[in-house]
Amino acid sequence: MQTAAKQSTQPFPQLFPLMAITQRPATVFVKGRGSWLYDSDGKAYLDFVQGWAVNCLGHSPAPLVAALTAQAAALINCSPAFFNQPMIDLATALTAASGLDQIFFANSGAEANEGAIKLARKWGRLHRDGAYEIITTAHGFHGRTLATMAASGKDGWDDLFPPKVAGFPKVPFGDLEATEQAITKKTVAVMVEPIQGEAGVIDPGDAYLPGLRALTRKHGILLIADEIQTGMGRTGKMFACEHSAVAPDIMTLGKGMGGGVPLAALLAKAEVCCFSHGDQGGTFNGNPLMTAAGLAVWQELTKPGFLAAVTAAGNYLTEGLAALSAKHGMGTVRGRGLLQALDLGAPVANQVAAAALEAGLILNAPRPDSLRFMPALNVSCGEIDEMLKILDMVIGQIPRRQ
Ligand SMILES: *Cc1c(COP(=O)(O)O)cnc(C)c1O
Repeated sequence: MQTAAKQSTQPFPQLFPLMAITQRPATVFVKGRGSWLYDSDGKAYLDFVQGWAVNCLGHSPAPLVAALTAQAAALINCSPAFFNQPMIDLATALTAASGLDQIFFANSGAEANEGAIKLARKWGRLHRDGAYEIITTAHGFHGRTLATMAASGKDGWDDLFPPKVAGFPKVPFGDLEATEQAITKKTVAVMVEPIQGEAGVIDPGDAYLPGLRALTRKHGILLIADEIQTGMGRTGKMFACEHSAVAPDIMTLGKGMGGGVPLAALLAKAEVCCFSHGDQGGTFNGNPLMTAAGLAVWQELTKPGFLAAVTAAGNYLTEGLAALSAKHGMGTVRGRGLLQALDLGAPVANQVAAAALEAGLILNAPRPDSLRFMPALNVSCGEIDEMLKILDMVIGQIPRRQ
């Protein structure tokens, strides 16, 4: 397998018998340490994507490896119908920190959001005369199951895999007036990302979530915060809702929560927790191996000074990107903490990301004109400098005027 990949750096979509869901570079990754990833040729890459904001402590961090090793030796999986200790400990920690009362563990963000949608619909049936519609936003992203695709506002998704799951009217992100106008007797909830991630790191400003909280209270409907990308310290607070002191009724977590392993969660206030036995479940949900990993991550994120360091690193990254932008005549820097985007001022983001990969830097291009930065939360200033140096060189090579 590795020799086949070594033969060429040309993109061969059918190199291996894997369904072609995206264009993968023709190399095989074999090792990761902190902010660095290595392929089978021994080439090192500085990783500012980290598995899509997933490896929040970097690649193979010691506390996570130790927790997985110890738990694997003790108990990997009992049953979702039994309690296990890491499940209980992580549930206790996350409910206490979020101010929400109960948690349901899942294996992916989409599954957590799917659970949030089910919970809101059940609540609407019990308490709001069968209301089931969930208002979501244009360009929002909530996952790739049928319902979460319908909840997402991604361009081109409306016509995929018909028939589409009904009940997700869309409003522009950041628009409180349009949201209030969209509320009807059928509305049960509003569901948003505090900062839109896949849309290209779009920050709606600090008045938006408090505005939505007031609106949803006034109309007696639920506020669902999808914190799958923004949660777990990514923006410098444990949950991005904390920046504007908003308490949602339902919150979903994923990505950074497991530090690299599949772990996600749905949290809710007690009065919303209306699942009956059999309404919700999942074979692997809350298994001790994954929740032990989540607990190890949680213990690192809650160490004194950890979140302050994320904010400091975020500020350092913003300054560096702003200086680079000024030097090359590019656009603005968006985002918060270690979730940021740079507007390149021209639709060359895919070219820049490809050239960066060649130069040993992993970056993501969420939009034709923007790069996204989501490094490990413990990234060093030296690593940020190194990233900026490579990016400076790459941008210098790519003509931005077409
Ligand atoms: C990544 C993401 C999801 C989907 O999570 P998966 O684990 O890929 O299913 C949902 N919502 C947001 C905001 C995300 O960033």
